[in-house]
Amino acid sequence: YLLSTLFLLSAFGCQQTQAPKSDMDVFVDNLISQMTLEEKAGQLNLIPYEGSVDDPEFINQLENGRVGAILKSNGAARNRQIQEIAIQKSRLKIPIMFQEDVIHGYKTIAPVPLAEAASWNIQLIKESAKVAAVEAAASGIHLTYAPMVDISVDPRWGRVLEAGGEDVYLGSLISKARVEGFQGNQLDDPNTVMACVKHFAGYGASLAGRDYNIINFSDREMMETYVPPFKAAIDAGVGSVMCAYSAVQSIPATANKYLLTDLLKKELGFDGFLMTDWSTISNLVYTGVAENDTIAAKLALEAGIEMDMKAEVFVNRLPDMVRDGIVKEALVDNAVRKVLEAKYKLGLFQDPYSYFDETREKKVVMSADHQQKVKQMALESMVLLKNENVLPISEKKKNIVVVGPLAKTKKDLLGWWFCKGEEEDVISIYEGIEQHSSKPKLRFAQGCEIDSFRVAGKELIPQAVRAAKNADIIVAVIGEEYWMSGEGGGVANLRLPSAQEELIAELGKLGKPLVSVVVSGRPYVLTDIAEHSDAVLQAWMPGTMGGEAVAEILFGDFNPVGRLPMTFPIHEGQVPIYYNYRKTSHDFNAPDRYSTRHLDIPHEPLYPFGYGLSYAKFSYGEIELDKPQFSMNEELTASIEVTNMGEVEGTETVQMYIRDNVCQITRPVKELKGFQKVNLSPNEIKKVSFTITKDDLTYLDKDLKMAVDAGEFTLFIGPNSSENKQTTFTLK
Ligand code: BGC
Repeated sequence: YLLSTLFLLSAFGCQQTQAPKSDMDVFVDNLISQMTLEEKAGQLNLIPYEGSVDDPEFINQLENGRVGAILKSNGAARNRQIQEIAIQKSRLKIPIMFQEDVIHGYKTIAPVPLAEAASWNIQLIKESAKVAAVEAAASGIHLTYAPMVDISVDPRWGRVLEAGGEDVYLGSLISKARVEGFQGNQLDDPNTVMACVKHFAGYGASLAGRDYNIINFSDREMMETYVPPFKAAIDAGVGSVMCAYSAVQSIPATANKYLLTDLLKKELGFDGFLMTDWSTISNLVYTGVAENDTIAAKLALEAGIEMDMKAEVFVNRLPDMVRDGIVKEALVDNAVRKVLEAKYKLGLFQDPYSYFDETREKKVVMSADHQQKVKQMALESMVLLKNENVLPISEKKKNIVVVGPLAKTKKDLLGWWFCKGEEEDVISIYEGIEQHSSKPKLRFAQGCEIDSFRVAGKELIPQAVRAAKNADIIVAVIGEEYWMSGEGGGVANLRLPSAQEELIAELGKLGKPLVSVVVSGRPYVLTDIAEHSDAVLQAWMPGTMGGEAVAEILFGDFNPVGRLPMTFPIHEGQVPIYYNYRKTSHDFNAPDRYSTRHLDIPHEPLYPFGYGLSYAKFSYGEIELDKPQFSMNEELTASIEVTNMGEVEGTETVQMYIRDNVCQITRPVKELKGFQKVNLSPNEIKKVSFTITKDDLTYLDKDLKMAVDAGEFTLFIGPNSSENKQTTFTLK
């Protein structure tokens, strides 16, 4: 113990020999005491770098300690080379931290996070994050910019695919699971990566779904909706946080002291390190909040920012600012301390090279086990939206015609943020179907092209119709290309791009069984697609193994289990639409025109939150309570019998929602408070029980303080947020 302390202290040229090595604070303080202002500012500097390791300018930066962390990684060997320069050539030998957007996989790509959320399988989501972490860590990455936990109710926003959907309860469970999956039990285990939860906070509310747009919501919404998934990540021990591009109360997050210091650090108890998003310190000048970079740096540092991504404002400005008395050196030291602590927790001072292991990299990246795991994730993420006796495809249906612009594409299955994922590794949906069908060669027609959002490529439709004329069944693979969702992927139109709706309408006229498989990173308005199709499978952007997963579902080797983590609107005009809305003075169901509904479209969505079909058929009994009322220190048990009335085994996700019937503030009409997955054989009946305590009934009162009121509540249990059995209970 003591020996290694001495080794460490001498290795880094530390003068003090008293400090016990296990004391991170002493170690870090000691290091800080030896740093020049330039070296301190260097630790706060996160630069993207993909250039040559031999570039003299880059080497010079490393040698002079002007870089704390590097974004963009190209494998263990390269990162080792860079680390060697930092360790061997810089004065204090402080290791570099390598960071990357490992969002849903490193090279073995899992479905996009929104798709994973549709599995409602928290354990599997955790394992999927672990797969990503194991591959990334072996390839020399210490930290991933994930999970993104921005709740969003607007599918026009391209980034909905990166997070966990519209619901706070589900979103918070997923947030915790992803942090645990990435970080494992020990941050210094080189099979794990530090997680960076993002984007604090409220980015999911970007107005009209336009990325980076202003956000505009109440303090209540901030605390009820946007903050809880961050809280879940913090409670799970997340190592770092990235702030949002957004301005909260018109103060950009990067300069928002209330947000970053009072709320994040003090109230939520975050004590890891806090970074900006891409160039957000410079953005303070652009948005007119700061006159120049110096003021921007001051605002960011004083707000609580500890690492500057890309802007290079901290590294260039802070030393002089301290010398000129513009910011206090102690504040710079605090930021440096957080960055060094993170490196210490990652074990980088112990062994700066432990994450660069080419042998491990070769072994784990794209391993059979990882491919199997992401395939399972893909299977469980897909949501069967409609099925009128066509799926699974029976053995007799020999003549399968595959149509559609997404059937043979590969990159689109990877989705946005595919890190090191490669098209060559992907199994297309066409290939998946081909492998599974008894016929060696399937007929294929593209049907239309998608090269933009314009309605184009109609000329291919007649050819597809001809190809499908004699089909026993048509499988149309439609949706969006990978670049259409993701960052900067805001859209106004939620109809499938190009001529795809017309293609499906024309195919529908043939009167043949028509299955539409939708590849997308967001909920689209599938109203017309569903009308013309006999079955619709929401396959999302399902990753490397997506093609096989689709085929296994279509042929019934896997019985779909996915449930929607976001509401699917019937029309764009409904957006934002979500299940847990609040009552207003006027009911949407009012018999006259004085209602909250639109006059020209239905009020209900096409598919509600929590919805998804199975090849089995589940029916629900009535809710039974062990007592009609309970007190604050008691528990209430609610049970319901679920029966599989179908002919095949299947898994149902039994969902529990609660409404507070009378409260000092208007409350959501219902909120998800629990769910359970139950597997049932044909005719099997299982009793599913939920335990309810006062913790499930808490809310933020008029003063935004946590409260729980006695009174009557409505309990809903069922297969999704809109179809459920209900009863009431009373909290005494
Ligand atoms: C995104 C972040 C991402 C970062 C680094 C930003 O534009 O908002 O989510 O982690 O770029 O790539």
